[in-house]
Amino acid sequence: MIEINNITKSYKETKALSGINLNVDEGELFGLIGPDGAGKSTLIRILMTLLLPDSGEAKLDGLDVVKNYKHIRKMVGYMPGRFSLYQDLSVEENLNFFATVFGTTVEENYDLIRDIYYQIEPFKTRRAGKLSGGMKQKLALSCALIHKPKILVLDEPTTGVDAVSRKEFWEMLKNLQEKGITILVSTPYMDEADLCDRVALIQNGQILDVDSPKRITDKFPRKIIQVGAQNMYKLINDLRAYKKAEAVYAFGQFAHFTGFNDEVETIELEGYLQNLGHEKIIAEEIPAGIEDVFMSLMEQ
Ligand code: ADP
Repeated sequence: MIEINNITKSYKETKALSGINLNVDEGELFGLIGPDGAGKSTLIRILMTLLLPDSGEAKLDGLDVVKNYKHIRKMVGYMPGRFSLYQDLSVEENLNFFATVFGTTVEENYDLIRDIYYQIEPFKTRRAGKLSGGMKQKLALSCALIHKPKILVLDEPTTGVDAVSRKEFWEMLKNLQEKGITILVSTPYMDEADLCDRVALIQNGQILDVDSPKRITDKFPRKIIQVGAQNMYKLINDLRAYKKAEAVYAFGQFAHFTGFNDEVETIELEGYLQNLGHEKIIAEEIPAGIEDVFMSLMEQ
């Protein structure tokens, strides 16, 4: 449904995309995962026909993003990262506006947005600018769906949204996928990778890997030891100073440690940390998560 062949894009001296190749199948929920500045928005804006690539080509449902841009705009639903709504229009005015622009009506397409819209309907006369973050997000999604798009593209829809709204949002995306819509969603949150059928890990305008989240983590070849102790700052420094340390990263309240050639055992690390006066030491081997893979690929 989405085919991307060797797309490059630079902004003056900044190379935002260096030869991106990617395919998204019909009906997939596909994640574009990467940190700020990775090139996610640039790629999405090219697909949404808002930006021209320097080279390469991309097709949506067989339509070329440069030659067939008018057709594509009718067929895709786009939720940009920055708020896309008219702040001074009410909830229902925003929805009617987007429906009118696409030559349709809210009634005609109500089925698709019903589950989402009923949550914001009590506020339908409120100005969009006065809605909470989670509500704005639901309205923006309703507006992006109002013309029954085949492909829904969302640029960092959950950035800056609270944990509960994030969870609700992903449930909405799953429901839309069940209705047959192909979904491409970008996010800087690695934990959201597991909610996608397949993901592309992107960094510095390059794709590092594309696969299902499970296959990406399963094929990670290294042993990871999760380490905790009372003084996190000292823990990280001491682990990094260990003679057999290869990589040490902070992951929330723990550090993830990889030793040279996977030689290091948990018991050995515990002993090393005890000798340095650490308290409440926990060390256990854990399976790799997407963040571990990402860190390792970025290093390479
Ligand atoms: P992401 O969406 O992953 O945060 P972007 O596509 O926004 O990444 O940015 C990719 C790179 O291109 C970054 O280095 C960013 O600073 C640069 N960039 C993005 N938009 C512009 C622009 N309009 N002018 C100049 N540089 C830009």
